[in-house]
Amino acid sequence: MDAKEKIVSLRKELHDHNHRYYILDTPIISDQAFDFLLKELQQLEAEHPEFYDANSPTQRVGGGFTKNFETKAHRFPMYSLDNTYSSEELQQWEQRILKRLGDDVPLSYTCELKFDGASISLTYVQGQLQQGLTRGDGTQGDDVTQNLKTIPTIPLELQGNPPELFEIRGEIVLPWKGFEAMNAKRIAAGEPPYMNPRNTASGSLKLQDSSLVAERPLECFLYALAGDDLPIKTQWEALQQARSWGFKVPDSARLAHSLSEVLDFISHWDKTRKDLPFEIDGIVIKVNSLEQQQALGFTAKAPRWAIAYKFQAEQVQSRLEKVSYQVGRTGAITPVAHLEPVLISGTTVKRASLHNQDQIEKLDLRLQDAVLVEKGGEIIPKIVGVVSEQRGRIEDQIRFIDRCPECETPLVRIAGEAQHYCPNALGCPPQRVGKIQHFISRKAMDIDGLGAETVQLLFDHQLIEHCADLYSLTAEQLLPLERMAEKSVANLIAGIQKSKDQPFHKLLFGLGIRYVGETVAKKLTRHFGSMDQLMQADIDTLIQVDEIGERIAHSLVDFWQQSENRNLIEQLKMHGLTMEQEQIQTVDNNLFNGKKFVVSGVFQNHSREEIKAKIEAAGGILQSGVSKTTTAVVAGEGMGPSKRTKADTLGVPIWDETTFLDKLELG
Ligand code: AMP
Ligand code: ZN
Repeated sequence: MDAKEKIVSLRKELHDHNHRYYILDTPIISDQAFDFLLKELQQLEAEHPEFYDANSPTQRVGGGFTKNFETKAHRFPMYSLDNTYSSEELQQWEQRILKRLGDDVPLSYTCELKFDGASISLTYVQGQLQQGLTRGDGTQGDDVTQNLKTIPTIPLELQGNPPELFEIRGEIVLPWKGFEAMNAKRIAAGEPPYMNPRNTASGSLKLQDSSLVAERPLECFLYALAGDDLPIKTQWEALQQARSWGFKVPDSARLAHSLSEVLDFISHWDKTRKDLPFEIDGIVIKVNSLEQQQALGFTAKAPRWAIAYKFQAEQVQSRLEKVSYQVGRTGAITPVAHLEPVLISGTTVKRASLHNQDQIEKLDLRLQDAVLVEKGGEIIPKIVGVVSEQRGRIEDQIRFIDRCPECETPLVRIAGEAQHYCPNALGCPPQRVGKIQHFISRKAMDIDGLGAETVQLLFDHQLIEHCADLYSLTAEQLLPLERMAEKSVANLIAGIQKSKDQPFHKLLFGLGIRYVGETVAKKLTRHFGSMDQLMQADIDTLIQVDEIGERIAHSLVDFWQQSENRNLIEQLKMHGLTMEQEQIQTVDNNLFNGKKFVVSGVFQNHSREEIKAKIEAAGGILQSGVSKTTTAVVAGEGMGPSKRTKADTLGVPIWDETTFLDKLELG
């Protein structure tokens, strides 16, 4: 088999495995075997750029960068849907249909879940994904094709016998599990969590770096076909056909032969929707026959042949007993409403989030108010209103605190942010404990045998005041404490000692500097290489680093300015923690074995010589000019235009610095 045949057959094989894994849910090879095939294809494609294919399975990993998303017209407009909230309104809708079509026509409906995400329209030509647009204003949307390609449930190449040209509409959703994992990361970085999966899903489509989209666990559910002369007569058939072409069409859809069957479907999902792994905000009911659909047509805004039945978010009445204020690790103050316990969607709710001062004022909350509590798209229940006939007394109006409930320090509110902070980062007990808890957490120093509760215990016994104190703990100090047997003490001390070898970026993340999450810590590490270099960087130097803005830069500089923080770092240094980026000896020396690279331009975090050295250390070969044999051009700022054109025409991939380093580190 020659290289071309091999590439083509690998692509086909990988498309097929992808389909089995993500659509059919019945993989026939292991993840490892899949990765192996993918690597093989990646390698062949790198060696044979002339066989480039925009829809190759290797495109899934992303890496393309879109500065501005181009606006493009929809070939068929993307309508919105009219809403109903009751069975009466549904009956009226059916009456309107019968009036237009004639009383005695047989009607059947498809019932589908109304996925709460971001809608998109995909165009396929000859079985290949050609373009993907957001809904935009319905007549034109943004071209987000690059980003969509990273979503594994969107087929890049179809199966079976799809029409020559058609569009398919669907919804990009972020399932709860992935949403919660993303939020856990943000909270660990001291950043406010995302509000709901829908906004996060639609925000994801507009990320400039498609490799970031690839990291997000997005899914795409398809529900409508659009095109001229499609080989289908009903919506039901459309769903089945789309499934047979390899799309993810949820099997929750039903064909209903009467409105009462529709109502059964609705009440079933109203009860069970909380068990779904993703969010839905209602049910979509569509007249099944496309001929009838055509006869019914559209209003200015929505089809007459479809309607959304929206679920009421369950609202329950309770009473506001008090408001307390929590102080987070970064000093952020969160007001929490304490409620008379009530049952919402099967769980007892005693607390609700109030977010911030503005929200309390908007609701004009008073103690003993009867309040409406809702568990909607957000994970934590929220107060959506007060019952005007059952108000508390005016003198019991809730006033946002102006001092920290834990340390009495006057609170501050940063311009442009809704949140209040306790600025006493170094003296405020929950901030101090929270910082140590963050420091030891899995993604930071990952200290075996030490958990958040133990940290609290050690802090309460004044054995530790900040994270550096961990490293001088002795067995004699620990043994007298509750639940500290000799074995666990030995484990704990060993775990603490071992953590000294954690790489520098984890230490940096572990310091809990506001806005310095895992990703930012890695970026800074790459750019500056060591604590000393980083601490010397001023605002101007910092903001020149890709994706480091003023907010992060100020936060860093403020942090170093405090002598307590500088002392802390001195102490950590003394204890022998890693203060520099590890050299890349750890990387597989044969990773680039025999592969050829051209290095061009000026890099942010490394000199050109350093990049070349890294390539050679990994077994790669340097070339001076781009040719068919080039695996990739590693390009910095100001790469020569002729090199770029040549690379483009030969289909040689161009890696920016970050991509290069990722490949080097991650293989
Ligand atoms: P709305 O945004 O409330 O006007 O509702 C219309 C939107 O519902 C459409 O643009 C789609 O994004 C979304 N939707 C979700 N699930 C479906 C479905 N099964 N069929 C049609 N539209 C759906
Ligand atoms: Zn405080």
